[in-house]
Amino acid sequence: MAEVRGKLTRDIVIVGASVAGLHAARAAAKAAGGLSVMVIGKEVRPRYDRQPPPRTALTRPVDLDATTLRSLGRLRGEGVDLRLDARAVGLDPGRRELQLEGGTVSYGALVLACGCDPVVPALLTGRPKVITLRRRKDLLSLRAALADISVSVAVVGAGFGGGEVTSTLAGGGRTVSLIDVSPQPLGQFGSFVAESYLALHEEAGVAQYFGDGVVEVLEAGRSRLLRLSSGTLVPADLIVVDGGRRPATGWLASSGLTLRDGIVCDAELRAREGVFAAGDVARWFNPRYGTHMRGKHWANASEQGRLAGLNAARSVGGGITEICAAVPYVRSDQHGVRIQFAGFLSGDEWTLTQRTTDGSIVLYGREDELVGVLAFEHRALFVRLRAMLAGAVAWETAVELVGAAISTSQDKPRSPRLRRDPSRHGGETR
Ligand SMILES: Cc1cc2nc3c(=O)[nH]c(=O)nc-3n(C[C@H](O)[C@H](O)[C@H](O)COP(=O)(O)OP(=O)(O)OC[C@H]3O[C@@H](n4cnc5c(N)ncnc54)[C@H](O)[C@@H]3O)c2cc1C
Repeated sequence: MAEVRGKLTRDIVIVGASVAGLHAARAAAKAAGGLSVMVIGKEVRPRYDRQPPPRTALTRPVDLDATTLRSLGRLRGEGVDLRLDARAVGLDPGRRELQLEGGTVSYGALVLACGCDPVVPALLTGRPKVITLRRRKDLLSLRAALADISVSVAVVGAGFGGGEVTSTLAGGGRTVSLIDVSPQPLGQFGSFVAESYLALHEEAGVAQYFGDGVVEVLEAGRSRLLRLSSGTLVPADLIVVDGGRRPATGWLASSGLTLRDGIVCDAELRAREGVFAAGDVARWFNPRYGTHMRGKHWANASEQGRLAGLNAARSVGGGITEICAAVPYVRSDQHGVRIQFAGFLSGDEWTLTQRTTDGSIVLYGREDELVGVLAFEHRALFVRLRAMLAGAVAWETAVELVGAAISTSQDKPRSPRLRRDPSRHGGETR
């Protein structure tokens, strides 16, 4: 659309035209007051919004342009120089120069919001009708294939994203299978959450295979089967992969930035003087938890984009830069049930589980503090608990709040008391 040729100069340059990049552009343009802002994105057309992921767009011919992240016209109206179909290929932070395929841009401050690339298992790489749902064309080809209800779908990878796609495609008589090599879904949240997730998909008629990896692809004309390690054969005319994602930092290898599963940066999202990072690619020092972490969800990308854009503008135009002390958060709607998590788990938490007729709440605690909360429905209660997590929350306070909220609601608890499970949970949220 608007590639870059020759040598240009801009006050603020942003690499990435998706969630974090476009939020950064908006914030920088608002804060910049006369500074020039440029966005570089390698896609020809901007990505569709993924929050909520384009569930309706998968099954119905909705206008994808109506679901894009931002009105590009509005950004341009705010003076942002938007260059799509332009790829960043190198960075010299000492000279403050960004190399693009066709030219160079000198900057005052740079925001790196280049996200992640999907990781497709080698066995599935390069095969037709294997879709990762990263790009607009993935979504369009999936939608076209789904017009025929006899087309079977196998979703490989049962995280929040895989579960969402599965819930969108299930029903109406289509054969939909969910496959994951790990023995239980969302394992880091404990066995109750895994069981609830399994039950949701089972009720919807989804065939589920956990602890079973794909070992062979058997192609037979239009039909295809996957052989799993257990020997089970799964119909898979179409395969949707929601496996791992790798930070898109290959092009920064010789930049001198610290790269460790993402771009390492400080609490203000600064990777080095004049360079900020935001979104899925940023491994930032979160002062709320005193450790580095990487967000992998929309809410993180939008908030960090806004903050990195603001800090970049202030680092050039003057003003106090801000820290990012966000509580990790993810939301996922599956089969009509909203699943939300907020917090940060390190693997040694205990849990309290409260089930009611229309949902459940799981509290995660460590050293007499609440460190996380996961809810199936119970939206209002979740909002309160999530807000509390911005600061230190005594475990007993959270337990009392949940007890009071449940007993004053119309829900009839299935068990009269909160259950305490000393089970272990692990890892960063996915
Ligand atoms: C299938 C799927 C389902 C999801 N479901 C959910 C969900 O339910 N809830 C949730 O919270 N999150 C979900 N996510 C995650 C969410 O989409 C991401 O957290 C979010 O997109 C991250 O935004 P980002 O801007 O950091 O990176 P990305 O969206 O990955 O964007 C990166 C941008 O950088 C550009 N870029 C990269 N390299 C270069 C380069 N060298 N030169 C120029 N441009 C470059 C890309 O073209 C793109 O514009 C889902 C993701 C997927 C794939």
